[in-house]
Amino acid sequence: MVQDYKVFINGNWIQTDDKIDVVNKYTQQTYVKIAKAGEKEVDEATEAAQSAFKDKQMPPYKRYQILKRVSELLQENKDTLAENLSIEAGKPLKQARTEVDRATQTFELSAEEAKRIHGEGVPVDAAPGSENRMAYTLKVPVGVIGAITPFNFPINLVAHKIAPAIAAGNAVVLKPASKTPVSALKLAELFQEAGLPDGFLNVIVGSGSEVGQQMMEDKRINAYTFTGSAEIGLKLKQNTGLNKLILELGNNSPVIVDKEADIDKAADNIAQKSFAFAGQVCISVQRIYVHEDVKDEFQEKLVHAVKGLKVGDPMDPETDVGPMISEEEAERAEEWVNEAVHHGAEVIEGAKREGALLHPTLLTNVEKNMKVVCEEVFAPVATIIPFSDLKNCIDELNESRYGLQGGIFTKNLETAFYAARHVEVGGLMINDSSQYRVDLMPYGGVKNSGWGKEGPKYVIEDLTEERLVVFNLDSEK
Ligand code: NAP
Repeated sequence: MVQDYKVFINGNWIQTDDKIDVVNKYTQQTYVKIAKAGEKEVDEATEAAQSAFKDKQMPPYKRYQILKRVSELLQENKDTLAENLSIEAGKPLKQARTEVDRATQTFELSAEEAKRIHGEGVPVDAAPGSENRMAYTLKVPVGVIGAITPFNFPINLVAHKIAPAIAAGNAVVLKPASKTPVSALKLAELFQEAGLPDGFLNVIVGSGSEVGQQMMEDKRINAYTFTGSAEIGLKLKQNTGLNKLILELGNNSPVIVDKEADIDKAADNIAQKSFAFAGQVCISVQRIYVHEDVKDEFQEKLVHAVKGLKVGDPMDPETDVGPMISEEEAERAEEWVNEAVHHGAEVIEGAKREGALLHPTLLTNVEKNMKVVCEEVFAPVATIIPFSDLKNCIDELNESRYGLQGGIFTKNLETAFYAARHVEVGGLMINDSSQYRVDLMPYGGVKNSGWGKEGPKYVIEDLTEERLVVFNLDSEK
């Protein structure tokens, strides 16, 4: 049966005339219809956030209690949330369950951070002529946060937007991805149950070009936080004036397999980390640079590990690789593979498509200007690139426009330190692949991969302002 959802504004569930259909990504059947926010709803959501921020400020312990309660509710509702995630995103059930666990962490960490936001004393009396002055800083919330999220982690990336913002005392207007908005509305239900005062969270569903555009133009929004493609990230940068802006964008993650690596470990790890959620993870391994001395051994072991991945129905608890977000996206990735093959690339595994299901695909003999190498493929496609000299390899992989995370497998400390100093990324994993993230760590990219760090402790720096308070004391006393 098709379920109905409404948008969430000022603590109320609002029906509208237009609807957005959300399809089961495996069966392609509509399973939810959601009220589509128009101009009026976007306006009301922003108004509600602004008045909540002005009139209903909560002390830190209250924010802690609410966020902590949401983290508990996430665990109490884990099975239903994971099932919904699997249906709305096509995410294999075991990965969906992990996502709910991670969101639980994100809320718990944010709750804890709510109690740790503080300024510091500033010794202004150390400056000549300021002997009678005393100063300290306050960390104050920014105000209304406009958050826009992508389809690939519909719970945890929404959690990373909302939970630290509320921990810091802000109010939020959230626009989730149109393909996967149900999880965000379910999170709003949990917030309501946890007792969040009306207006602090507003969830409006609608297309990026309409709702997103209106949000960018609304002067009542004080800061924007966006996770998604570099293309839309650039639009935000060009359209949000002097407002604060946090951008978490794409990548074409590199991983190096050095000649002194544990090849079994590297092959098993990379097989998992290239194809989880059909490669639609911003830190999915896309470019595998392998030392030529170990290439044949590594390639054989990698192909063996990839053949062991179970492809199919995301609701099957054994499935490792499910469908992509849409058939069009799978066709687009298949075209990129075909284009590479046309120019000389060799398929060593996969390159088979059934509707939205693209089988894990490995390519070799690739050139650095092929889309599967230099663009973000965002699909279950990885490329193997041999190298003979580590310095040249790192120079070449740094030619990418992106720089979110990377990895290197090596037992050689000198090599590991060299990579740590020279690979241009926001995070480098040693003896692990690029796709490593826990929710407390600073996470964010350089170059076209974005600006600013997520991780509750780190993003709160951007979601608060530092206000200096200086006392001019009576020097006679
Ligand atoms: P996307 O197409 O950029 O969409 C992201 C969000 O932007 C969606 O909510 C979308 O709305 C909205 N949007 C679209 N056009 C807009 C406009 N003109 N103005 C304002 N908002 C607009 O990205 P996606 O396909 O959902 O997600 C995949 C991308 O996200 C990849 O590039 C991936 O690497 C990146 N990503 C990065 C991170 C990170 O932490 N760095 C994490 C996850 C994903 P609609 O859904 O309505 O189009």
